[in-house]
Amino acid sequence: MTKNGELGLGIDLGGTKILTAVIDAAGKMLSRDHSVTPAAEGQEAVIEAIMESTKRSLSEAGMTSEDLTAVGIGAPGLSNPETGILYTSPNLPGWHDVPLRDIISKEFGKTTYLINDGSAAAVGELYFGAAKRARDFIYITVSTGIGGGIVVNGEIYAGSTGTAGELGHMVIDDDGPLCNCGNTGCWEMLASGTALASEAKRIIERGTDTTILDYAGGNIEKVKAEAIHEAAVAGDDLANRLIARNAYYLGVGLANLINIFNPEVIVIGGGLSNIGDLLLLPAYEEAGRRAFKQSYQSMHFTLADLGRNSGVIGAAAYALERSRKNI
Ligand SMILES: [Zn+2]
Repeated sequence: MTKNGELGLGIDLGGTKILTAVIDAAGKMLSRDHSVTPAAEGQEAVIEAIMESTKRSLSEAGMTSEDLTAVGIGAPGLSNPETGILYTSPNLPGWHDVPLRDIISKEFGKTTYLINDGSAAAVGELYFGAAKRARDFIYITVSTGIGGGIVVNGEIYAGSTGTAGELGHMVIDDDGPLCNCGNTGCWEMLASGTALASEAKRIIERGTDTTILDYAGGNIEKVKAEAIHEAAVAGDDLANRLIARNAYYLGVGLANLINIFNPEVIVIGGGLSNIGDLLLLPAYEEAGRRAFKQSYQSMHFTLADLGRNSGVIGAAAYALERSRKNI
């Protein structure tokens, strides 16, 4: 954990949004800035947007970069925390082997760390959220895709070249839909919010009797998880079947994680988890049917505590922790 008086700057870089915040040693956010990622404008525009956002965060906290102990960046895609290189990111077109850590570090003149966004969120939940006191746990975020982080013995498990934890690309159905990673039947193609919406659209286009469209303003393009959830709660048969299908695939993936890692807890975040028990209870039951009893009975599921801030808090906390240990 961090010492008092230390201040970290967290940067949560996403394909659509940039979140930055100044965080103290107790994980409290002293400021927070939210802006849009100009991903289509290329790397330089994104770096500039990050720097603008950090300036606003520092000024809101009444600080300058001189006051910072360390800077942490959580970034989507494959990166190596040791070298600070972002290899590639499906959400940031054109980014290949970018020395993101050193670029940001030069701007601030402060020790800077790069970590995968899912791992950053896991660190946030480990230090200040739902996984406090856990030593072995998995964090998953289920939203447009499925991301996550693996914590083993109180530390993020990064793998031999830093790219471990791509939970959403665990293959669940080898004959399943094509994923943008190039593989077929990845977990996020079957159990994410995007998977839920695209399956709904596919069936509605065939002409099935359902009220889902009514909850999407009559526009099939606007069929998203929220509309399906609302229709399900109101008793729509198709909506309930679609959520049950997502729950089934979610449970299959959870069973795999439980059998491989034997975690104490699996923390679930992301927009789709807002559906709550209707999605999660059947997913937990499916996991229970498939996982080894010894592993399943000794673990529990819980919802993430820090919401959208887990990544930005985690990136800053990771940087403070690493800088304190001088690594
Ligand atoms: Zn994939």
